Amino acid sequence: MYVINLILDIPLRNGYSYLHSEALTRGTAVNIELRGRTQIGFVASSMPTAQFSAYPLDKLKPILAVGDSNLIIPEHIWQLCEFAANYYHHPLGNTLFCAIPVLLRKSTAIGYTSTDNAYYQATDSEIKPHGTKRQQLLEALRQQTLSLSQIRAIIGANANNLIDEWLAAGLVQITPPPPASYVHQALNLNTEQTLVVSALSAELGKFHAALLYGITGSGKTEVFLHLIAQVLANNQQIMVLVPEINLTPQLAKRFEQRFPYAKISLINSEISDKQRLNAWLSAKNGQTNIILGTRLSVFTPCANLGLIIVDEEHDDSFKQNDSLRYHARDLAVWRAKQLQIPIILASATPSLETLYNYKAGKYSLYKLTTRAVQNAVLPQIELLNLQHYPANFAGINQIALEKLAACLERKELALVFINRRGYAPVITCYDCGWVSTCLRCSTNMVYHHDKHQLKCHHCGFQTNVPPACPVCHNQYLHTIGHGTQKLEEFLAEQFPNAKIKRVDRDTTSTKKAWQQIYNDINQQEIDILVGTQMLAKGHDFPNLTLVIGLNLDNALFSYDFRASEDMFNVLTQVAGRAGRADKAGLVLLQTNYPDHPVYQFLKNHDFNGFINHIFQERKAHNLPPFAFYALIKISSTSESTLKHTMQELSTQSKQIHHPEVTLYSCVPAVMYKLHNRYRAQMLISSNNRNALHHYLNTLESQLKPNNYVTIAVDVDPLEV
Ligand code: ADP
Ligand code: ZN
Ligand code: ZN
Repeated sequence: MYVINLILDIPLRNGYSYLHSEALTRGTAVNIELRGRTQIGFVASSMPTAQFSAYPLDKLKPILAVGDSNLIIPEHIWQLCEFAANYYHHPLGNTLFCAIPVLLRKSTAIGYTSTDNAYYQATDSEIKPHGTKRQQLLEALRQQTLSLSQIRAIIGANANNLIDEWLAAGLVQITPPPPASYVHQALNLNTEQTLVVSALSAELGKFHAALLYGITGSGKTEVFLHLIAQVLANNQQIMVLVPEINLTPQLAKRFEQRFPYAKISLINSEISDKQRLNAWLSAKNGQTNIILGTRLSVFTPCANLGLIIVDEEHDDSFKQNDSLRYHARDLAVWRAKQLQIPIILASATPSLETLYNYKAGKYSLYKLTTRAVQNAVLPQIELLNLQHYPANFAGINQIALEKLAACLERKELALVFINRRGYAPVITCYDCGWVSTCLRCSTNMVYHHDKHQLKCHHCGFQTNVPPACPVCHNQYLHTIGHGTQKLEEFLAEQFPNAKIKRVDRDTTSTKKAWQQIYNDINQQEIDILVGTQMLAKGHDFPNLTLVIGLNLDNALFSYDFRASEDMFNVLTQVAGRAGRADKAGLVLLQTNYPDHPVYQFLKNHDFNGFINHIFQERKAHNLPPFAFYALIKISSTSESTLKHTMQELSTQSKQIHHPEVTLYSCVPAVMYKLHNRYRAQMLISSNNRNALHHYLNTLESQLKPNNYVTIAVDVDPLEV
């Protein structure tokens, strides 16, 4: 008999011991009973009973069932999870369960639906099928080899039957699958791209961290595709991580068109649990060639990974903000090192952390400095001084409106960008000063015009607009400030013939909605796009020549030291959308502070200047990346419990010896109340990463979370 140490989905540092007749491989899924319920656990280690002395053996329960060997978490993923658990100070059990597909957390009895791997080709038969669709399909099968799913895309759900019929009649034959590395219509690289691709090709097969810094539209994606072709030809897998919002159908299509015979798994929050499990299994057994996904894909096991790419590496959505607070880019770098393979971090506006690593000699730099499409130039950026030309009630000024009119005249696409959805951020009563606030959060309720409702953008709470002021019963309530809806309404009045489309989280909640917007843009069914920063990222609108940015100044004076960096990045991205093809672009930014250095760097397309400016600022104040940060976050539904815990945390933290660690006071969070929970945080920093982790380990062992208060650690927090 063996004592098997198991990792369960519970916030404990130690495993649980069970009995089994034989030793089990680490990572094996098993069923056990715990507290009267059957649960899943994963094997951490096995030991002969003779060597076990922690408990009397008759207290140990048996393992109920052992999962299929297909479901074993491979050693490299186990190690990645162990690293993540230690680094992010999260229990290993919770980390492992976060890293695996939902279905695997629930059952060890799950099967794998293999996607059909057969390919078909037309024979020389002269039989002509009935129906145009069928004839088209046969013609396509004469031109090229097609898989069943490609056939299904042409002919519909009946594909299986039809192909069986045709096989029997001798119209088609099964052919061996074409090589996954087959490349369809690659573009010829320009000189800069060629240099980058050949330099990076030389680094395949070993650990190499590359920063690919290329302005928007410089052809970074094209560089990836060329390198991917080489890795595929080596029979290795490729993992491409992108921000959630960038995983558009367009990008997926670009990959699928280039590599028509490669198996590409798309992994994001929209796929079903079943699809996620299949993607996990097929990557693990080596069937998948390319994994294209958002942050959670970094945990996908791979039989033979040869290259990792993190596109838009500066993007905040790579960091998870609850439970396991990991940064997918950072874990990806760790994974590349573990597997001794290259990793490419790409961006038009690299993060300070990455630039810091480059300056420290850890990463190599590759640059693309010109736009890939011939004649395409960077847009001209102009600052509209609001002191001279004030904004109207909808938030836009006269000059911007004139340029917008001219753009409509030219029948080109314009994008008006305002970083707030809804109609107006708040409703108020001028008589008594009442403002619409959320009952569950310490924040305003935003007015949404279409449904005549107030919505909390933090907890999702919605309510009807009160018919009169709830305090003094005054019937005349006013909106303050502006959002996408008010702007849309105003522009519709101003330009009655223009086709205007609003793009924010309210209008794009489904994939279909996005698809519709793309189709409309491509068919020139839209003249003006009004939207939030959602529009800034990763989209390619060929006819776009004018971008107008409103309400930008807040970021310059934010409590969050990263706000101006974020703003610079978003604006560089939006600006990069303008004039991508053969048309010059114009970007207008409304501001009260046109002389502010951030705007000046933007205007001059001076990313290096901006970075040096920010670096100096951060260095002077000993902020990340010059210092390492961790936040202890506590929350409770009871305000008095929270206050008590804050007190306790302060006392405990000061009692630990900490020569290289700076402790800040435990303070209420900026959003003190969120979704009915009161929140506080304590910042801990150090210039020595090991000292910080050492300190956190000691502190953690003394913290006693209970049912009334949650305590979490956020290492390298994005917001402080
Ligand atoms: P990025 O990823 O840097 O934004 P993309 O790879 O998407 O850039 O390229 C921007 C545009 O330039 C795309 O329309 C792409 O098809 C085109 N492009 C990229 N490389 C080339 C090339 N070598 N020749 C012609 N067009 C190119
Ligand atoms: Zn009132
Ligand atoms: Zn709320």
